[in-house]
Parts: sequence; structure tokens; C-alpha cells
Amino acid sequence: MEGSVQVLKFGGTSVGSGERVRRVASIIGHHLRDGEGMFPVIVVSAMSDVTDQLLRIARVACTGERESWQQEVEALKQRHLEAADKAVHKREGRQALQHDLQVAFSMLEQDVSAVEAGRSAATMEQMGDGHASAWALYAAPTISAWGERFSVLLVAAAARDLGVQAVPVREEVIITSDLQAEMLPSFGTVVGADPLAQETRVNAARLIHPLIERGIVPVAPGFIGRTSRGFITTLGRNGSDYSATVIGEALDCAEVTIYTDVDGVLSADPRVVANTRLLPRLTYAEAARLSWFGAKVLHPRTLIPVAHRNIPVRVRNTFRPHTRGTVVGPAPGAHSAAAAITVRRQLALITVENSDLFGAPENAGQVFELAARAGAAPVAICSSSGHHLAFVVEEQAVDPVVALLQHDMGSWRVSHRRGLAACACIGSGFTADPMSPARAITALARERIPVITQGVSDTGIILIVEESDSERALRCLHRDLIAPVIPLVRHEIQETHEERREVRQG
Ligand code: ADP
Ligand code: ASP
Ligand code: MG
Repeated sequence: MEGSVQVLKFGGTSVGSGERVRRVASIIGHHLRDGEGMFPVIVVSAMSDVTDQLLRIARVACTGERESWQQEVEALKQRHLEAADKAVHKREGRQALQHDLQVAFSMLEQDVSAVEAGRSAATMEQMGDGHASAWALYAAPTISAWGERFSVLLVAAAARDLGVQAVPVREEVIITSDLQAEMLPSFGTVVGADPLAQETRVNAARLIHPLIERGIVPVAPGFIGRTSRGFITTLGRNGSDYSATVIGEALDCAEVTIYTDVDGVLSADPRVVANTRLLPRLTYAEAARLSWFGAKVLHPRTLIPVAHRNIPVRVRNTFRPHTRGTVVGPAPGAHSAAAAITVRRQLALITVENSDLFGAPENAGQVFELAARAGAAPVAICSSSGHHLAFVVEEQAVDPVVALLQHDMGSWRVSHRRGLAACACIGSGFTADPMSPARAITALARERIPVITQGVSDTGIILIVEESDSERALRCLHRDLIAPVIPLVRHEIQETHEERREVRQG
């Protein structure tokens, strides 16, 4: 294939209504005309909240409440048909889209009925016993995949309405591993499968290359994949950023752009902190650390497929497409001097200690091996000596980890504390200031926020606080560490005239 490709991914808010879908279509048209020689390949999320609704439908279907899930499916169908009305203005295109949506919704209903009856071939063959495994392996991915499938229909039709040659990609592009039985969570939790790079490359070449060669813009579903045996999988909640870079890597793209509802990666979540600042440039490592510690703007795995290939990832605002956004990329020989504050919630602290300071062997290796065996990677390691180790894990993982440690570590005392959050101050330039850790602790002390434990390194400061204190902590850390040296920038979604009118009328 000749010429370079850029992947443009649009998130749930960006496609959250008919007018917004139309706005997305016009951005696609703009990239096609003005894309600096890069042909656009589109990856879309489900409309905002649709995945939650589909998972609710799957849950209700598992309990057999037919009337209740049918009502939810009907409401979902109406929302998409209304969006179709606003997204496509020409009659012929709109009718074709309405027909496609009707067909897709009847297929969803068939899938939900199959989940309800528990009689699908896939269920029987793969599952064995157990409600939780049936949910994780079959019901959740099969039903939640439909959100992205509806979106590709809307976006491709809206693009065609604006004169762009575009088609929905109706198959899953990403090929993933099977979910392993031992990874299965409790009922109701969505597990992500791992993409297989080589298989995805072959599949992407089959589905996408012929379209690009004919000058047709492919509109592909994010979030979803399938195994080589044909079972539907997902990359986990909020995984469509990740799917964009997986597809981008498979297509050897020149750049991936994540279009979302903020101007780029900011110095903190603007929903929590008022005076945030746009970070124009971030290294892969900085962005990865930010998303690891809870910055939702990028899924934590987004940079894995592209960092080793030096493919830049741009984060831009669908509602202010003229702004340049943030570029995440390689940083040869230098750091970006970016600084940001983020928070990861629902954590628990595990402490493992031995009072026999001279008789007990060092235990860190054994502790982490047992934690991994119980399915929990430490989110952060806060303190360690040969005989005392403190680390945080996701709260949902704490019971199995503690049980295994207590069982296997004989004389060691294992304790834990739930309901915590990690406030992370991230940025290489920022920690170059030797006073930063002191300023961070002082900022919290001034607000009477106790620091339960902490970890400092040259790439960040992690402060563990009570979850109930975490928002206040975030604000005062931003105020005392970031805001004094920055200009104030406010970020709001700019709504169109039509959207404003719709809100007023609603
Ligand atoms: P999308 O639906 O486009 O995937 P998300 O809701 O997943 O969007 O991510 C965008 C949101 O991430 C923003 O609306 C913002 O509230 C949140 N966010 C959290 N931390 C940051 C940050 N440091 N910079 C920008 N946005 C952030
Ligand atoms: N629609 C999926 C979710 O809500 C993926 C995404 O939007 O990133 O989890
Ligand atoms: Mg997202």
C-alpha cells in the first residue's frame, strides 16, 4: 500500500448525539482534504453511556427479566434512530441508515435472547459451569460490542452525507487471545483480552487496505475484537483508545489522533480542578504514568502498541478542532518539563512485616510473586526494607492477595487498609526541584489531609490518602505545585447552536 495513514479515534462524547456525529463527519472530511498527505482511518467508540446500558441489558438477560431488557433495548434503539435523524440530512442516506440500524438492533435482540436462554453454541462449548465465567467469556463481550457497531453505521452514513466516500467496517479488526479461565473475575466485571499483533496485522490488511486503495474512508469499531476461533472479545472498559493504537500499529500508520472532549492532556482532570493547563508535549513515559495513575483521557495501555515504533499520539478536542492539542511521542535526550496531578481511586494498602529483624530472610520477591499469583499487580510500592513492605493494589483484588500472603508467609504479619486513593504528581521537570516532595506534603498538611504513606522518585511523587480526601488533595496539590507557575486556561465544551437549542428544548 502506498502513502501514509493516520488513525483518528472519536470517543463516546464526541459521537454522543446526532449533531455531534455530524461534527465528527465534518472533521473526517477536513482531514481527507487537508490531512498533510495522510489518509484517514476512523475508529469510533459507542455513544456515551451506551456500553453501560448494554452491560445492564446483558446482566438483566442473565437473570431472565425479559420485559425489562426489552424496554432498555427499545430505548437504545430510539436514541440511535433520533441520532440518525440529525446526523444525516439527505433522505435516501437517512433511510438506508435507519434500515441498517433496524437490522443491527434485531441482531442485538437475538444475541440478548441467546444470553437469556443460555443456549448459545459458544456458551455451551467454552464455558463449563459458573455464572461468572459465562458472563466474562460470552455475555459481556457479545452484548457490549453492539455499541461500537451502531456507531460505525452512524458515523459512516454522516460522512457520506457530507460527500466523503466512507464505509462502516462491519467485522472486528482486532484479533485477540482467548480469555483464560484463571483470569475470570466475579460476575459483572468486564475483562479485556490481549490483542495479537501479527494476526491483527493480517486481518487489518484484509479489511482496511482494499478500502484505502480505492480512496474509501474505513470507519471501524473501537473496543471490540475477536479470537481466532471467532468469539467476540473486548479490550476492556474504556479500551477504544487502546484499540486505535493497536489498529494504527497494524496499519503502520504515521500518527494516531485521539479526539475527545478536552483540549488535550491537561495538568489535572478539568472536571475536578478549575484552573488546568494544556500540556502541549508529553513523552510516552510521562503519558503512560499519568494514565496508570488514573488520568482517564488515555486508556493506560494506549501507548504500548506505538511507543516502540515512535508513532506519535495526538490528543485533540472534537469540539475545538482548531486547537493543536497534546502530542505524546519520543523525547530524544530530554524530558518535556510537563507537570500534572492525577488520582487513582479504589485502592487498598497491604503491609507485610516481620518483627524478627535479623532472622527473617528478605521477602519482596516472594510477596510480589504471591500477589501476581492472586491476580494483582501492585499499583504502587510505597516503602520497603528487608522486613517491611508496603504496597497498594486495586481494592477488588485485596482479599485474595491477603489470603494467599497469610497462607504462604507463615510468621509474617499481613495487614491491609481499604478505601484509599493515590494522588500522583507526575513529570520529570517537576521533580527536578528538590523541594517538590516537601511542598506536596505541606500542601496536604495545610488542608489537614493525612498522608497514609508515600513514595518519591525522580519521575513522580505518590501520596496515598483516604479516598474521601482525594478530591480536596488533588485541588490543593494543583494549587500549590502547578498553578503558581502557569497561566490560567479554562476548558469547556463548545456546543453548537443546534445543540444548545436542543438542550433548552429538552
Ligand atoms: P472519550 O469518551 O473521548 O474516550 P473520556 O471520558 O474517556 O473521553 O476521557 C476524557 C476525560 O478525561 C475528560 O473529559 C476529563 O474529564 C478526563 N481527564 C482526566 N484526567 C485528565 C487530564 N489530565 N487531562 C485531560 N483530561 C483528563
Ligand atoms: N465503549 C467502551 C466503553 O465505554 C470503550 C470506550 O468508549 O473507550 O468502555
Ligand atoms: Mg476514553
